Amino acid sequence: MTMTWHVLGAGSLGSLWAARLARAGLPVRLLLRDRARLATYRAAGGLTLVEHGQSSLYPIAAQTPADSTPIRLLLLACKAYDAEAAVASLAHRLTADAELILLQNGMGSQDAAAARLPRTRCILASSTEGAFRDGDFRVVFAGHGYTWLGDPLDPTPPTWLEQLGSTGIPHQWTPDILTRLWRKLALNCAINPLTVLYDCRNGGLLEHPAEVATLCAELGELLSLCGQPAAAEQLEEEVERVIKATAANYSSMHQDVAQGRRTEISFLLGHACAVAHRHQHELPHLNALHGRLVSHLNARGLPTQ
Ligand code: NAP
Repeated sequence: MTMTWHVLGAGSLGSLWAARLARAGLPVRLLLRDRARLATYRAAGGLTLVEHGQSSLYPIAAQTPADSTPIRLLLLACKAYDAEAAVASLAHRLTADAELILLQNGMGSQDAAAARLPRTRCILASSTEGAFRDGDFRVVFAGHGYTWLGDPLDPTPPTWLEQLGSTGIPHQWTPDILTRLWRKLALNCAINPLTVLYDCRNGGLLEHPAEVATLCAELGELLSLCGQPAAAEQLEEEVERVIKATAANYSSMHQDVAQGRRTEISFLLGHACAVAHRHQHELPHLNALHGRLVSHLNARGLPTQ
């Protein structure tokens, strides 16, 4: 039986997923924040996906969490800081065999969301796809990539994985999803905060090789401490490679700060420092970086959590 995909969050990634699921003929329902957002969405006539400069409108059915229809499959596509509350608002609608896919970047929000739903299977995702909004309910597919999916508690692939094969969404089921999430978090911690503090593109970090190397060494210690030694392998080399390959880009955290948007700091560098602290392990440079980033955000009136 074809399952209905409920997608919470019609932002960049949520819209990118919803449009491609709908295009493949799968049943999709968007979950929007409230009645006001629903009215705006209906006035827009649907979601617009811009690919290779071409816009297509997808009139996907939408509802709010207050709707009463049951949810078997939920794709959570909000920011990490909204994940726990969003899941809590839908808990009463999830069926006994419901599954949740968590698309959030970083770490920490997945555990918080899962703790709200102790009986629901939670599948974690790590994506290198890129999308941004250029208007309300309009999303631009900016960077092709890949999405890894996995369940740290159960290596059995879910039944809906086959449906995903028909959508053209590049993906792979992996038993090592935690390693992937930790590796991505480490790359993010080594690059994004410094781009904010130096107000530079990723390539600007080529002028700060010693600082990047010191952070990579501490991140490697952290990953080993967390039982993720594979995520620490050749971290510094990959960070250097990413900095060079994306030299002309502004990091996501830089873009958030430049546009006065809340960052996901608590689920990235903040999470790294909190885990080290919990293990009573000293990571002086990461802690100092976190302190500088918090001051920077405070000075701009942005949340530091
Ligand atoms: P986004 O564009 O800000 O979209 C998030 C959406 O979630 C917004 O539309 C927001 O609604 C909605 N939302 C939040 N709480 C909600 C609730 N309770 N009910 C209904 N809707 C709710 O964020 P994004 O860029 O897609 O990022 C989502 C996650 O994917 C983040 O963790 C990000 O780091 C990760 N990620 C993003 C990309 C990318 O290229 N964008 C790539 C890789 C990973 P409103 O519009 O009403 O505020």
